[in-house]
Amino acid sequence: MSVSNRRKTVVVDVGGVKVGSQRPIVVQSMTNTDTADIPGTVAQVNALHAAGSELVRVTVNNDEAARAVPEIVKQVRVPVIGDFHYNGHVLLTKYPDCARALAKYRINPGNVGGKHHDENFSAIVKVAVDNGKPVRIGVNWGSLDQNLLTEMMDANAKLPQPLDARDVTMNAMVESAIQSAELAEQTGLTHDKIILSAKVSGVQDLVDVYRMLAPRSDYPLHLGLTEAGMGAKGVVASTAGLSILLQEGIGDTIRVSLTPKPGGDRTEEVLVAQQILQSLGLRSFLPQVTACPGCGRTTSTFFQEMAEEIQTYLRDQMPVWKGKYAGVEELKVAVMGCVVNGPGESKHANIGISLPGTFEEPKAPVFVDGALKLTLRGDTIVAEFLKILDDYVEKRYASRK
Ligand code: SF4
Repeated sequence: MSVSNRRKTVVVDVGGVKVGSQRPIVVQSMTNTDTADIPGTVAQVNALHAAGSELVRVTVNNDEAARAVPEIVKQVRVPVIGDFHYNGHVLLTKYPDCARALAKYRINPGNVGGKHHDENFSAIVKVAVDNGKPVRIGVNWGSLDQNLLTEMMDANAKLPQPLDARDVTMNAMVESAIQSAELAEQTGLTHDKIILSAKVSGVQDLVDVYRMLAPRSDYPLHLGLTEAGMGAKGVVASTAGLSILLQEGIGDTIRVSLTPKPGGDRTEEVLVAQQILQSLGLRSFLPQVTACPGCGRTTSTFFQEMAEEIQTYLRDQMPVWKGKYAGVEELKVAVMGCVVNGPGESKHANIGISLPGTFEEPKAPVFVDGALKLTLRGDTIVAEFLKILDDYVEKRYASRK
């Protein structure tokens, strides 16, 4: 499935994963382990990959990290991207095995060295050219190229009607990305080896900067709200910003930059990214459960528990189902709390169950492909429903493989 107005771009091959144009929008993530800790980083890369991350980025911030990269790459089965700041030109030339092992280099043009900016930037690009690797030119407004910004602020001040500082900053981000891409191509990198990003931490700023950046080139765009934050705030802000742009056809790969709780699960950012794409109808990853929110008609928690049990069951089955049943990720299941909306919503799903509300007769009609199939009663409703679900999946999706 694709948005018909999806922006046309070149396609960049990142370690075998194609990014751009009408290709599926790629989900990526980043580790938060010390890259020098090989077992810890491998475990997290594998966890992110298992959760569905199609590319995983690791920071390469010092000699130990650069030395660890080849071994990490050897032990994982997902393309690994190196994130470089300040010393990328040094590390990538000093550690050729690291340069060879990575699937892509992320360069922040604001963090490649003030006086020797172009020289250092070109040194990284030359390593990319020699190794046939793509780069992401990742501008971030927290580390915007200060020389460029100052130049643009000065020029703006001389205008008869100067823009406000926020707009000049947005323009400077776009210019930084575009000028860096031009410099990369002049250094020898081919047009189809460049991905751009321009990350900010505010939703409206994100929308504005990407709307300005998108028409300036046909490079694929990496979308993400930087420093999105923790919990609901991070999830909602990322969803709001990314959804507006994706709906406009802007964005070829996404990352959701959530701050996990201490000891929290890093893979949450992958699940959120997938859910954004699936909710927008852009990609399907996992069968979806539609559940009503519950209200005064459902005084017990039975239906909430059932909805959760089914969601967990579906997620647990997916590693096996994915290989066995083509298209099963598009399955829709409804678990509803009572007869008010239950039968209607259930009919719109592939399989739906409408549980009895507080004062309703204790029976649960099950709908399959819009028609009432049977009515469940008693303590074994969940088990029986899961059996119906299994049979449906086997019957409907096995033959498609
Ligand atoms: S379907 Fe029934 S239980 Fe669920 S929110 Fe609507 S009225 Fe309440």
